[in-house]
Amino acid sequence: MDEVAPGVFVATAVPYVTTTTVVAGADGGCLVIDPAVTVAELDAIASWLSARGLRPVAGWSTHPHWDHLLWSRSLGDVPRYATGRAAEVAARELPALVNSVEEAAPGHDLALFARVAPLHGEVIGWRGPSTVVLAHDAHAPGHGAVLLPEVGVLVAGDMCSDIEIPLLDTEPADGDPIGRYRHGLGVLASVPGVRIVVPGHGHPGDAAEFRRRVTADLAYLDAVQAGRNVADERLAAAPQWLLAEHDRQRALGGGEPTSPPSPEQTTG
Ligand SMILES: [Zn+2]
Repeated sequence: MDEVAPGVFVATAVPYVTTTTVVAGADGGCLVIDPAVTVAELDAIASWLSARGLRPVAGWSTHPHWDHLLWSRSLGDVPRYATGRAAEVAARELPALVNSVEEAAPGHDLALFARVAPLHGEVIGWRGPSTVVLAHDAHAPGHGAVLLPEVGVLVAGDMCSDIEIPLLDTEPADGDPIGRYRHGLGVLASVPGVRIVVPGHGHPGDAAEFRRRVTADLAYLDAVQAGRNVADERLAAAPQWLLAEHDRQRALGGGEPTSPPSPEQTTG
């Protein structure tokens, strides 16, 4: 666990370099955002919280993808929220989400998986620092980043990563996924006073790094939309699944698929 700002802690899981963010509140209560990924990693987070005198009082899921809907009994029986749209998608797509978690991170208590209630309003009500939800439909329907304005931390969900290119939500295919992503990125980019950005996958960055990632993401979207070659350093070390996503996204803008990755580049 790294303390990225006073009272804001980030743990990084091994699979997909997935982050968990913990925000300390009043009287030892804490908000847990996107706890991930394996059963052992969630238990380790719970042990760390307990050793630190922190007790989860609420959970937040940034978006309805399986690796952001996890929970563990060791984190306690507390209300868990997502945006209204995300909660609806999580409920509707539960069977497919369960298949994904069973395949990628087996052993989770499925009675707790993806059980998120819709948040009413834009503020998570709890006894702690202000937590403002920034909702948009880039990357996933009802994606809800969390801004902690007092400390200038933006918990971005699966956006603003140093290791992943923008990953578009391509359903429905005729629904302008690039335009939706641009809009969502614009929502995040227009937030004043971001001192630390925490991506769902990758590493926290400072204000300058946040700007750099937004610029890189916009350049990526521009290139994909125009069907141009994409020069993005995140693709240089990308695993095979990410290169496959990139090819799929290039096709949206009329780009030709790149050559298949060499075996050395793949990590499965
Ligand atoms: Zn995601």
